[in-house]
Amino acid sequence: MADTCEFCEGTMEYRHILARFRYLKETIYIENVPVWICNHCGEQYFEAKVYKRLEAIARQRHVIQRTITFPLAEFDMAIAA
Ligand SMILES: [Zn+2]
Repeated sequence: MADTCEFCEGTMEYRHILARFRYLKETIYIENVPVWICNHCGEQYFEAKVYKRLEAIARQRHVIQRTITFPLAEFDMAIAA
């Protein structure tokens, strides 16, 4: 992963965030997702293995999701693909 943003050349930081993820026609929120994020424009990059896991979580969302004010799943609760 390059450590500068390809859009604005800001610095990319590795963080864990509450990620919004689109799957099929639903938007789900997943806590504690590791992501590269630009500290200037906020652009987010998921690594391929993380993205795959987000998809796995999305498929299992009705099993692992807990409800607060919106559907929320925990990244660490996903079964590794
Ligand atoms: Zn940027």
